[in-house]
Amino acid sequence: MKIQLSHGSGGKETQDLINSLIKKHLGNKILNKMEDSAVLKAPGKIAFTTDSFVVQPLFFPGGDIGKLALCGTVNDLAVMGAVPEHLSLSLIIEEGLDLKDLERILKSIARECQKGKFGIVCGDIKVVEKGKGDGLFINTSGIGRIKRKREMSISRVRPGHAILVNGQVGDHGASVLSRRNQLTAGASIKSDCAQLTPLIQSLLKSCCRIHAMRDATRGGLAAVANEMGSSSNVTVILQEKNIPVSRQVRGFCDLLGFSPYEMANEGKVVMAIDPRDAEKALGIMKDHALGSKAAIIGKAEKKGDFPAVMETKLGSRVILEMPGGEHLPRIC
Ligand code: MG
Repeated sequence: MKIQLSHGSGGKETQDLINSLIKKHLGNKILNKMEDSAVLKAPGKIAFTTDSFVVQPLFFPGGDIGKLALCGTVNDLAVMGAVPEHLSLSLIIEEGLDLKDLERILKSIARECQKGKFGIVCGDIKVVEKGKGDGLFINTSGIGRIKRKREMSISRVRPGHAILVNGQVGDHGASVLSRRNQLTAGASIKSDCAQLTPLIQSLLKSCCRIHAMRDATRGGLAAVANEMGSSSNVTVILQEKNIPVSRQVRGFCDLLGFSPYEMANEGKVVMAIDPRDAEKALGIMKDHALGSKAAIIGKAEKKGDFPAVMETKLGSRVILEMPGGEHLPRIC
C-alpha cells in the first residue's frame, strides 16, 4: 500500500495511519493522549534543539532517515551535556511512499527511542503531492536535562586544551554518497550514525575537565575545528597523522577528490579538554563501543592568523579551511 494525499488530510485516513503505524511503534502515555501539545514537567536546566532531515537516499548502509533524525537531534543535546527526555517527530511524506518503507523507518525510530530511554511525545503528519517531496522529510525537536553545573561551550576553548575525537571521521558522508550514486567504490562503508549520549555521559561523570564539545556533522571535522577556533579566539592545530580515518574512506576520498576531514559524520564528537585530563578521557572513550578508535588529534594555541591549521604528515602547517560551497547536498 502507498501513502495517499488523504493520509495527510487530518481526517479518517490520518487517524487510521496514526493508529495502525504511529501508535503501534511509537505509542506512549503522553503521545497516546493525542492532545494539541504534550504537557511536560521540566524542572532545572534543560537543553532544547531542532533539526530537519532531507537525506537522499532514505536508506543507506548503517542507517536510514529515521535513525538519522533521532541520532542527529539526540547528539545536539548530548554535546551540551544533556540527556534527552522527550522528542517531537514531524513527517512530511510524499504521496506514493510505500507504507512498508514508512513502517521500516518508524521501527528504526522506535529502536532509537528504546535505546535512549526517551519517547516521541508530539508530532505531525503532512502529505505533499507526488513529485514534490522526494519520499520523506523529517523534522525532530528534542528536550534534554542538564545535570552538570559547569557549562560547556565552543567559545570556551583555551590555548593548551587538547582536542580529541571519538573515532574515524568521514564514514557517514562517504556511505551516503556512495549509495546515492550507486558507486562500487565505498559500497562497504557504513554510516557511523549513533547516539552519543552514553559515551559523553561516561566522560562527564568521570569529572574530566571538558570545556567544549561539538558533534562533527555537515562540514565534518574541518568545520568544527574552525568553529571552535573562531568562537574561542584561538587557533586549533590538528595533527594529520593522529586523525583516525578508515582505509576505505581514505581511498574513497582520494578517488573522488574529497577531504575526509570535510565529510559528514553522525556519531562523532570533537572536544576540547584540559591537557591534564586528555589521557584519562582517551582511556574512557577507548573502553566504549563508540570510542574504540578515539584519538588525541591536536591542541589549541594562542590565536594566530587562522582559526584552524593542519600539521600535515610531512610536518608542514597548512590552513584548514572552513568548507565552502555545497559539494555534498542532502547528506543529513
Ligand atoms: Mg551539532
